[in-house]
Formats: sequence, C-alpha cells, structure tokens
Amino acid sequence: MNRYLFNRPRTFRGGIHPPDFKEQTEGNSIQMYMDPQMDLVFPMSQHIGAPCKPTVKKGDQVLRGQVIGEPQGYMSVPVHSSVSGIVKDVKPMLTSTGNKVMSVIIQNDHQYNEVEGMHKAYDYKHMTNEEILKVIQNSGIVGMGGAGFPAHVKLNPGPEKKIDAVIVNGAECEPFLASDFRLLIEEPKKVVDGLKIVLQLFPEARGYIAIEDNKPTALSLMRLLTTGEDRIEVVALRTKYPQGGEKQLINAILGREVPSGGLPADVGCIVHNADTIVAIYRAILEGRPLMRRIVTIAGGAVAHSHTFKVRIGTSVRELVEAAGGITGELSKIIAGGPMMGFAQVGLDIPVTKGTSGILLFTPEQDFSGQESPCIRCGRCVAACPIHLMPMMLNRFALNREWEQFEKFHGMDCIECGSCAFVCPAKRHLTQTFKAGKKIISDERRAKRAAAQAAAAAAAAKDQAAPAAGK
Ligand code: SF4
Ligand code: SF4
Repeated sequence: MNRYLFNRPRTFRGGIHPPDFKEQTEGNSIQMYMDPQMDLVFPMSQHIGAPCKPTVKKGDQVLRGQVIGEPQGYMSVPVHSSVSGIVKDVKPMLTSTGNKVMSVIIQNDHQYNEVEGMHKAYDYKHMTNEEILKVIQNSGIVGMGGAGFPAHVKLNPGPEKKIDAVIVNGAECEPFLASDFRLLIEEPKKVVDGLKIVLQLFPEARGYIAIEDNKPTALSLMRLLTTGEDRIEVVALRTKYPQGGEKQLINAILGREVPSGGLPADVGCIVHNADTIVAIYRAILEGRPLMRRIVTIAGGAVAHSHTFKVRIGTSVRELVEAAGGITGELSKIIAGGPMMGFAQVGLDIPVTKGTSGILLFTPEQDFSGQESPCIRCGRCVAACPIHLMPMMLNRFALNREWEQFEKFHGMDCIECGSCAFVCPAKRHLTQTFKAGKKIISDERRAKRAAAQAAAAAAAAKDQAAPAAGK
C-alpha cells in the first residue's frame, strides 16, 4: 500500500523531539530594523567557495546595491553594500564562523542612495535558464538556511540530472527560530512566485512547499494561495527534528534516499530554504540584490524575543540592544539554532547572509555539560536520522582512526546534534564529528592539490623534453 495516498503528515526515520520554545518567537510579527547606527561589516566570504575580492578601499563613497566584493569564479557570488556611506576600512573582522574574514566596513550615511539600475524587473518567462541563473548569481544569492551554497550552482545540476522535484524548505525545525515561519505567513505570495521562477528552470519538476504541522496557519495560507496551481503541492510534515535537513525532507516527501556522499540532485531534487526562494523572487521580479535578511533574536538572557528584518552587515550587538538588551544571566551566545548553530565569543559580529537567529541563553538553557563515559545505551543510534552509529564514530574520532571513521560513513553526518541531545552521558558527539570531518576534508584537499601539482610538473617536463631535444 502506498503510504503517500494518505494525507497524514510525512516524516523520516530517526530524529528527536526537543522542546521547540516557539511560543516565545512565533507570535512576534517581523519588525523592520532598517536604519542601523553602528558601522556595517561585510565579510567577503559569506558563501561556500572562493572568497570575494574587495572592489572598494578606505575612503571610497559607496551606494546601496553597489558591488563591494567581486566573485572569484563560478562557485562564488558578489557582496553588495546594503547602505550608502563611506568605506571606513577593509580588514579582517570576526564573523559567526569564529574566524576573522577580510571585510569591508562601511559607515552608514543614512541616505540609502542607490546604485543606478536597481529595481529592474525581469520578464523571466521569456528568459533562458542561463540568463535567469546569471541574474541569480549577480544578485549574490546563497542558501539562507545557513549553508551558504551559491543558489545558481545548486540550480544548475547539469543535464545528466533529471530534476523532477523542487522543494521549498519551510520546516524550520530548530527550536526558537521563527524567521521562516514569519516569512511564510507575512510574505506568502513571494514564496509561491519565487517557486514558480525556479520551476521554470525545471519544466519536468513539481514544486513542494514543505511545512511542519506545528505551523497550521502557514499551511492553511499556503494551501489557499496555491489552490488551482497544478504544479505546486503544499506538504505537511510531522514536527520532528531535523525535519528541515535536505535528506530528511526528500525522504519524508518522496520516499527517496540521497546516497552516501551524494546530493539531492542525485535523486532528482532541488531543495531551497523559503527565504532563499524569496531572495530569488526579489532579484528577478524586483531587481534587488541580496541585501537583507530576517533574524530571530531570542533566549532567556535577552529582554524580549524579536524577529527583525535587517540590512546584511548590521551589528549583532546593535540588534540585541534593539531587542531590549541583555537582562538575564548570559551563559552562551549562539548564531543559528541551538542544535546546529555556532557558539560565539561575543556580540561583535555582523549579520551575514546565513544568520537566521541569535540566541542568548541563561545557564539553565545550556544543555551541554560535563562528559562521562559512554554507557552503550544506544539512544544516539535510535536518534540518528542518517542511521549512523554515533558512539562508534565518537571512539574513532577520539582515537584518530580516520579510516574507520570513513568506513562507518562518518562523512555522511549532517551535524544535526540529535545524538548529543539524547546522550545521557553528555558525550560531545557532534563536536568530535565536526572536527573529524574537517580533518578528513583537509587531508583530501591536500592530496588533491599534491596530485594536481605532480600532474602539472609531469606535463611541464613532457613539454620541456622535446624542446631540449631540438
Ligand atoms: S547515547 Fe551516549 S551513552 Fe548512549 S550509546 Fe550513545 S554515546 Fe553512549
Ligand atoms: S550529528 Fe551526525 S551522527 Fe549525530 S545524529 Fe546527527 S547525523 Fe547522526
């Protein structure tokens, strides 16, 4: 019997049910915070791929919408200034990744004078795929769920991949975060119209707007708006973490398994976060590059939870002040959600394209604790949505047995944190997997570079040999 014949919320195997704490955030409508007072910081690396090269220098006057960071290659997108003003400096600055990244620092002149040519709407129905993808790249669009994958690359998987499903990820399964939920209910038409643009790129594809069943308002609204749309289906997903993971979404909606080491396109799917779809809408139909994003500020240590629409580059410290400032005992700052986000050393970081939330936790909200030995209870195995064996991977990583780590599919770990959340021994599982994956990726990259250098040296030697024989 086909399980998809029933209109029950769909889901995947594994996962966990952490308290979602959304009651603190979902009820707050999006507030505009569009006149930042502090200097704005624009890191040149807000995407996976080569960092941009700054196109401005200290003392330059810039306009809103001006390219201040030039992409370096196909796997790269430009950075645009979200304000007009003066470049105060170009230097490395701390970002939410924990690294210092070359950044352009701009003093806002509060005039918001725009670069020429903004607001040019495109008649996308009469454009080729290449033309649409070029606009998306030039608009600086990356995955806004946090991964920072350039959108035009994801939307161009190559002719050998037959894409039959485009999924809008509106699950937002991380506790506290409500940015996507507010977007879905406050700008629903932009989500639908953005999806139609993407569907034009894939004529064989069906569109799915996937929302967890703890967001009934968003589900009803989307169903209403898509009534009569033959190519678009709104899908209710069971509320479970990490339902918003790409592999889990695909499995829940279509019953397909992305192979180990594979991508969604390998099983005919493209997945984009709801805010990324709206960014595509704005680029094509409003002629605006990516210069703003929606950010949830929440947690017990901040005076009030807020969901702000802000200019990219805005100081996180300023946003926290706008939310009433820190009033509780601050134990931990997280950029992103509590499960997959990054712990921060302070508030002096900018909002970037991938900043979905800033959480300020009190000691009681901080569930990480002192590790004790593994008691082999197996809870981590039951929770893992990728069907890995976290306790084994943890042992391999701690013993630096990288061959074993790879053999047991450690590189497939999506770093969702479900295993660490359920572990009664408070093992720092996800941390060790993140570190292990980085070591293995760095080794692979170094091996590839060495092989390429050796091949180039051999080719040069081959070329030199006949010349020497002349
Ligand atoms: S949940 Fe923790 S204690 Fe239980 S088997 Fe996994 S690592 Fe060991
Ligand atoms: S962090 Fe990795 S190992 Fe742990 S549950 Fe998530 S996917 Fe599985």
